[in-house]
Amino acid sequence: MHATIKLWLDDERNPDDPQIQSKFYSEPGMVWVKTEEDAKKILTTGTVKFISFDNDLGLGNGSGTSLANWIEEQTYNGKLNRLNWAIHSMNPVACKAIAWTMKSVDKYWRIIMEIIDHSVVLMQPGEHDENKLVDLIEYAARTCYQSFDKMKVGSGEELIRSCIKNGHESVLEHAVISFHIITSRYNSHELVRHRIASYSQESQRYCAYKQHLKFIKPLWLNEIPIGKWTIIPIVEKSEFTTPLNWITFFKGLLEVEQLYKNLISQGYKPEEAREILPNCTATELAMTANIREWRHILNLRLSPKASKEMQYLMNMILDEFKINFPIFVEDFKL
Ligand SMILES: Cc1cc2nc3c(=O)[nH]c(=O)nc-3n(C[C@H](O)[C@H](O)[C@H](O)COP(=O)(O)OP(=O)(O)OC[C@H]3O[C@@H](n4cnc5c(N)ncnc54)[C@H](O)[C@@H]3O)c2cc1C
Repeated sequence: MHATIKLWLDDERNPDDPQIQSKFYSEPGMVWVKTEEDAKKILTTGTVKFISFDNDLGLGNGSGTSLANWIEEQTYNGKLNRLNWAIHSMNPVACKAIAWTMKSVDKYWRIIMEIIDHSVVLMQPGEHDENKLVDLIEYAARTCYQSFDKMKVGSGEELIRSCIKNGHESVLEHAVISFHIITSRYNSHELVRHRIASYSQESQRYCAYKQHLKFIKPLWLNEIPIGKWTIIPIVEKSEFTTPLNWITFFKGLLEVEQLYKNLISQGYKPEEAREILPNCTATELAMTANIREWRHILNLRLSPKASKEMQYLMNMILDEFKINFPIFVEDFKL
């Protein structure tokens, strides 16, 4: 970790001077730079988290206005980290110009997209108590054999094991389980092919992605970091740690994000703007299926023949089963 620096740009006023501190809000320990060139040298180290601008730095020493323009250009090209700023210049015209430029820079630094992982959450966990489901299924199964007198502690599990072993799986249809799933649009398209399940999926027609777009991390791009991103860290990281395909992919997403937002701001409807969105756009859905169908889905989609992304998601669902309803998946040899 680098130390973070607060920069004080001024040719005369010393940030450590208590009078200057009370008048201009400088702080002890700020790094004092007197010329535009010196400020640039420190800014390019990527360690500056704050800068306070003076404007008139004396002949040949540059100016705060010119430095702000340089910061804007560097930021636009993805070469500067996010920093906070203030202006302590006494020149009102320059103050306005610096503020104008730095406000535009702030826009480049806002969160523009988020890379997330797939996720699975059991909905209404209390309602999905394994014992309740086992009791329900046992009751239904014992109806077939009129063997209610055999119901005792642990008899449900035994009966379910036997039904599964003998292929008498219709009894599992009496109990349903719901998951809240976040995955890619492409994965969800495969998921909803399963007809014996119910779905409620986030609508791209009615929900505009107003703040920032979320994309699912592709499994084949290990290097792509999960998190909220501005343009800045992408390039900062890419220069040091990432291979080209990571950046190419990321830049593609950035472009899509911009196009989508432009369309929305021009008055296009979300259902029109969505046509630009890629397959890895994140989507949320609630999915409910009975246990027989979940077992069928898990069998098909955990197979090595299924896509890697689908296997990854299904392993998350299998894990939820193993934790909450192990009886229904204990025959899975995966
Ligand atoms: C590895 C893999 C590759 C695939 N590739 C493709 C592809 O290239 N293109 C493509 O279009 N799809 C593809 N699919 C999707 C596949 O064709 C099915 O649509 C999907 O797996 C749903 O399976 P299902 O029909 O068995 O299950 P569900 O719809 O979940 O139904 C469960 C079961 O109910 C019964 N059932 C449901 N509806 C009917 C019905 N109408 N008539 C009779 N029985 C019914 C069947 O026994 C079925 O197995 C692929 C799936 C897998 C796992």
